[in-house]
Amino acid sequence: VFVCFEGGEGSGKSTQSGLLRDWLTGQGYAVRLTFEPGDTAVGRLLREIVLSPETGELSDRTEALLYAADKSEHVDTVVMPALERGEVVITDRYVDSMLAYQGAGRALDVDEVEQVARWATHDLRPHLTVVLDLEPAHGLGRFDERDRIEGESLEFHLRVRDGFLRMAKADPDHYLVLDARAGIDEIAAAIRERVAPLLTR
Ligand code: C5P
Repeated sequence: VFVCFEGGEGSGKSTQSGLLRDWLTGQGYAVRLTFEPGDTAVGRLLREIVLSPETGELSDRTEALLYAADKSEHVDTVVMPALERGEVVITDRYVDSMLAYQGAGRALDVDEVEQVARWATHDLRPHLTVVLDLEPAHGLGRFDERDRIEGESLEFHLRVRDGFLRMAKADPDHYLVLDARAGIDEIAAAIRERVAPLLTR
């Protein structure tokens, strides 16, 4: 079973992915909790390149290709091997982040970005993507200074949010959209309820 968490900055993805991992582990499942960008040796370097202020502005395509490279390494060396071992894989960000940030957010063609992202990931798709939805102004307010966030406009983050919501709306069977402002326990319970039926696979 392959579950992804998506959403903007400060939406609680790491908290909720951790809680889901803890619950599944408690139920006796072997779980691999992972994240993008950066959860491989080369991914750490790519994350550093793409998010370090020292890098300055990258061209949109360069940025997309660096994220795609991180994804490719992640899927080949972490996600697929864990799924093959029968583990539940939970990832904090996946293909949809690339479609939302590099596609909807930047001036790149979403379909082209999708082709690159699908190619990088062998078109491996999650059974469920949880979108923790939050108004960008709210999410950004929870951070003072992080990565390159401050360099992006509110409009950029609004396009990103809209990108996630559009993907979810187009494929309700594979998405769960939750209001990230709800209580942590309430959100966690809604996620467990949706994940539980997948576990028979
Ligand atoms: O989820 P996490 O906080 O680790 O993401 C780090 C940063 O990478 C975020 O600020 C997000 O905006 C950015 N990002 C991106 N494009 C992606 C994935 C992440 O711009 N495809």
